[in-house]
Amino acid sequence: MMSVQYLKGVGPERVKHFHHLGISTSRDLLYHFPRKYLDRTKIKKITEILNFYRSQKSTERLSSAEEETIQGKIVTISLIRTRRRKSIVKAAVSDQSGMIYATWFNQPYLKTYLTKGKKVILSGRIKLLEKPEMIAPEYEVLADDNSPPLHAGGLIPCYPLTEGLKQKFMRRTIKILLDKNIDLPEIIDDLLRKKRQLPPVEQAIRQIHFPDNNTKLATARKRFIYEELFLLQLALGLRRNRVRKSKVKYPLKISTALEERIRQRIPFTLTRSQEKVIREIKQDLLRTHPMNRLLQGDVGSGKTVVAIYASLVAIGNKTQVAFMTPTEILAEQHYQTITQLLADSRVKITLLTSGLPAAERRKRLNLIKQGRINLVIGTHSLIQKQVAFQKLSLLIIDEQHKFGVIQRSVLKQKGGNPHTLVMTATPIPRTMAMTLFGDLDISTIDELPPGRQPIKTLLRPTKKMVRALDFIRGKLKEGRQVYFVYPLIEQSDQAINQQGSLKSATQMAKYLQEKIFPEFRVTLLHGGMSEKKKDQVMQDFRSGRINILVSTVIIEVGIDVPNASIMVIDHAERYGLAQLHQLRGRIGRGTHRSYCLLFGDFTTPESKQRLNIMAETNDGFRIAEEDLRIRGPGEFLGLKQSGFPEFKIVDLHRDFDILKQTRNDAGQVLSRDPLLKQGQHRCLKEIIIKQFKNKYNAI
Ligand code: ADP
Ligand code: MG
Repeated sequence: MMSVQYLKGVGPERVKHFHHLGISTSRDLLYHFPRKYLDRTKIKKITEILNFYRSQKSTERLSSAEEETIQGKIVTISLIRTRRRKSIVKAAVSDQSGMIYATWFNQPYLKTYLTKGKKVILSGRIKLLEKPEMIAPEYEVLADDNSPPLHAGGLIPCYPLTEGLKQKFMRRTIKILLDKNIDLPEIIDDLLRKKRQLPPVEQAIRQIHFPDNNTKLATARKRFIYEELFLLQLALGLRRNRVRKSKVKYPLKISTALEERIRQRIPFTLTRSQEKVIREIKQDLLRTHPMNRLLQGDVGSGKTVVAIYASLVAIGNKTQVAFMTPTEILAEQHYQTITQLLADSRVKITLLTSGLPAAERRKRLNLIKQGRINLVIGTHSLIQKQVAFQKLSLLIIDEQHKFGVIQRSVLKQKGGNPHTLVMTATPIPRTMAMTLFGDLDISTIDELPPGRQPIKTLLRPTKKMVRALDFIRGKLKEGRQVYFVYPLIEQSDQAINQQGSLKSATQMAKYLQEKIFPEFRVTLLHGGMSEKKKDQVMQDFRSGRINILVSTVIIEVGIDVPNASIMVIDHAERYGLAQLHQLRGRIGRGTHRSYCLLFGDFTTPESKQRLNIMAETNDGFRIAEEDLRIRGPGEFLGLKQSGFPEFKIVDLHRDFDILKQTRNDAGQVLSRDPLLKQGQHRCLKEIIIKQFKNKYNAI
């Protein structure tokens, strides 16, 4: 395809600007769709406008937010220079019915362009001065040959722009391109187009830029929505086919004896949901191509034991497992849990943390390399780097809430082609499961272990904290434990925050110990502490030696201390909903009634309303949906910086039906031609590769 630099009016400077918008070829430019259209189809009689606005009472303000469009002849035009060297061009325009003034600021050249007698279309807002006037309208001089207007009549495209590229320039350049013989490849073949009632590419591209009417525009848009999703589904399908064709290095078997041994180790009856996902995972593990599965389940639904189950299958087959966690505290906790569960078995487990002395670390790495360790637990970074396994067959990634990161870390490990299980408490909405994660299989735990009490969540202004303290004291006396969460580690962090009055965990730990709960043991925990110190604190909290843990959000993920039944979060308005739900997930893990107390300054109705959903529901799926609605998919899943594709024209929510169609259609195309090698498919594949290769490791 031709580079944009050869287009009329596009010099090296503009080529650079185009690049900012991701446009380098003329095809890219044709696929740069308007973000909206101004409706300038209704040309009004000038008298009609004059009468309407005269009947309005107000004098100064803009009388209407809506634009009006008129067509007429320039009767007079004059240029006025103000004292401050500004210029005003004022034109009188008339049609058969009447005359109106139009005014432009600082565009003196208009005086020589919109000369007397020219036929024009003007679109703009009306302001009632002495008389109604059109203020800075978009203008277009009509050619005598009746060719349709570009800027000021009909449905006018408005493009996404960047510095240095103006709306009018964009319209003109695209128009020039469309007037040429556009030679776009047809991505959707005739049969499919017929089936889904989509217009051919050339017609659609003309209509999406300069639509004849709203109906034709809608049809054109539908075609490109379909096209965008179709390409993505093909890309995902190609990738799936590739994974299916690859083989794991260490195939696994599951004997009844092995299963029995595993089940004997589990100290409780598994829930029906847990049984279901274990079945799904087992089936995957028995296949010769690698598992690529996402396990989603609300906080506290019991994902860890599922991971342990899978691990023991791999270990029973004399292969190794890597278990990655987002924090060291969580790695330590899993290490404790699993070691206890497997006490006096032959399974060798090791923990890789950043706090290890160099010699010890080297020793452990060596044992892993020689295959003398079966299960390695550590944070992402520790396991990803330098660790060489002898026989890695299973990779588990726990509490992964930022999905931009998984794809990359999973791919990194793909060398030995191990099975991969990713666990998350953030549910993936169905739309995204079918698109961005279309190549992952998904298992869902949709119930909590029996005997859980629903958590009661209360929202209170911070100044009501004092009353809550007595309530908390009562629970502490009954033997329960409590978390307090603050946004800062230390007061000196204040420099960073503008509001100036945020409390810190350090300050509050001291205050709560000395002034409020002298009879109980209060301890501080935050990410800045040494590995050893953190472990000690967590151990003491787990064993009940500490009653109150004052912490930063470091405890957000995974921590499991069933006796802790109260979570106090101050400055709650500062956290996202999903994060609050994670924090709240630290309690309600035992049989005690649990309470989550959210304190804050809810200065705006929105902040209060947003947090109210926390009080309304404990359902993580609902909260995630709400969070997704508020923050949008990119932010929500942490995809923003990770180079995932942003859709051009698709809105997953709105276009769910088309999404399902493309999934179906792409599946059929690939079943006939799995690698898109036949005739016309080759061009299609080229486009897919160009579009997805770098952005999204889809193929
Ligand atoms: P999450 O899904 O948030 O990772 P965990 O795996 O930490 O949840 O489990 C939460 C708690 O529930 C743990 O204390 C765990 O031992 C317990 N648990 C898990 N499954 C069951 C079950 N089937 N019956 C009873 N308790 C269970
Ligand atoms: Mg967990």
